[in-house]
Amino acid sequence: MADTKYIFVTGGVASSLGKGIISASIGKLLQARGYKITIQKFDPYINVDPGTLNPYEHGECYVTTDGQETDLDLGHYERFTDIKTTRDNNYTTGQIYLSVINKERRGDFLGKTIQVVPHITDEIKRSMLYLGRKNHYDFVISEIGGTVGDIEGTPFLEAIRQLKWELGRRALCVHLTYVPYLAAAKELKTKPTQHSVKELQSLGIQPDILVLRAERDLSQALRKKVAAFCNVESDAVVQSLDQPTIYEVPVRMAEQGLDVTILRKFGMPADGEIEWGNWKRFLELRHAAKEVVRIGLVGKYNLQDAYKSIRESLSQAATWQEKKLKVDFINSEKITQDNAAEMLKGWDGIVICPGFGSRGIEGKIIAAQYCREHDVPTFGICLGMQMIVIEFARNVLGYRDANSAEMDTDTKHNVIDLMEEQKNITNMGGTMRLGAYACRLKKGTLAYKAYGKQNIEERHRHRYEFNNAFKDEFEAHGLTCSGINPDTNLVEIVEDPSKTWYVGTQFHPEYSSTVLHPHPLFMSFIKAAIHQSENK
Ligand code: GLN
Repeated sequence: MADTKYIFVTGGVASSLGKGIISASIGKLLQARGYKITIQKFDPYINVDPGTLNPYEHGECYVTTDGQETDLDLGHYERFTDIKTTRDNNYTTGQIYLSVINKERRGDFLGKTIQVVPHITDEIKRSMLYLGRKNHYDFVISEIGGTVGDIEGTPFLEAIRQLKWELGRRALCVHLTYVPYLAAAKELKTKPTQHSVKELQSLGIQPDILVLRAERDLSQALRKKVAAFCNVESDAVVQSLDQPTIYEVPVRMAEQGLDVTILRKFGMPADGEIEWGNWKRFLELRHAAKEVVRIGLVGKYNLQDAYKSIRESLSQAATWQEKKLKVDFINSEKITQDNAAEMLKGWDGIVICPGFGSRGIEGKIIAAQYCREHDVPTFGICLGMQMIVIEFARNVLGYRDANSAEMDTDTKHNVIDLMEEQKNITNMGGTMRLGAYACRLKKGTLAYKAYGKQNIEERHRHRYEFNNAFKDEFEAHGLTCSGINPDTNLVEIVEDPSKTWYVGTQFHPEYSSTVLHPHPLFMSFIKAAIHQSENK
């Protein structure tokens, strides 16, 4: 649309400053003022998407409803704004090059030499403008991964430079930097910020707004100094201090008028009010919560970001039920039959996490067994659901060799098996069962009660499935298949109705839990865990 405004969010000094949270917060504030927005992420790495990446590289891989494997920041965008992202909300260098190279092979460039400038930068610009052209948005916010000065980020910054020039007053750049406190000197240091802005300026980009991440309050004088050194208006320098929760950040930004400054810079009125809805109520509950609900995450990646959406979904559900969430990682590689009780007792609920490959799965199976036998509220997600099924097959159906074909291709009791259409796939990237699929819930089951309706849609990311050849046997022995895909008959949810809360989902409910709409299964699971904690 001719009047869509573009906000570019770049970062300097260090990574992990929370550019994703700032981008999500800006989106949230503009949305809360009644504007139509979308947020997109540009990742300078060469992988075509993060689907093939180990979680230790960039954390969890998030999945959009239309089946794109994306950066985890898209999860923040959705959790903050409740707006679904799509495959067009995340681009990588790899994807940009792939598309340019495909065009070259098709002969689209009519004999020209293909170069970073203009061909790669044109493709980046096209991607940056695409959503704004396709749909009507008042604002398109583009977050650029990495930090200014990274070699691989340069084409993205060149694209921003050109777009700022072409779009004039319809584009602005928000630059996030870091102001460290040097304990020995007892001083806050602005020099890294000055250098980072200089670097950006040397690439031809003048930032319009600076967000300074800091661990200590930054005085007005310091902010004025930064403004003066960096050619930025003094009310366009805001600070972003550590917050007890990331969901506090939009409120802190609003207090400093970040949204008003953005609107003013675009020449737009800011006379309306911010419509917070239940957001502030959520924060109030969060701060008031005293009693703790303790959840153990049984997984193999000991890294905060690896199970980001699960952690956020749990904490949203706990907050809405006025509890403080304490969540800890339990390394599945360390769980054995001998130490299971020691490692798994004392939790109010256990999540058996998603994953790939055989490392740590025996520990997950033992966890499933311990939780089933001791009636601990248990939530198995994707691989976690598959482990619940395998454990049940081994210890209830009596098939000692039961396994997933992913871990043991020869087992006769392949209760989790490769789907027919997956058997001839040789390319690993983007070929799993991905995105939202329909699921019909069986009336009277825990899943049905949690959702309060029969037909749902949930996002998937897996290759293997519950093997329907064993379905009747499982059901006869007490594992109910409570959610079925109506088109393919694939089992999407299993539960043990003889237990308090023992559920496995083949899909990933964590991708669709937001602050204002916590996911019904997480709400129900946390409720059971709270009940467990109160009855200890
Ligand atoms: N590795 C399993 C599969 O591909 C589970 C995947 C997951 O947990 N996301 O089916």
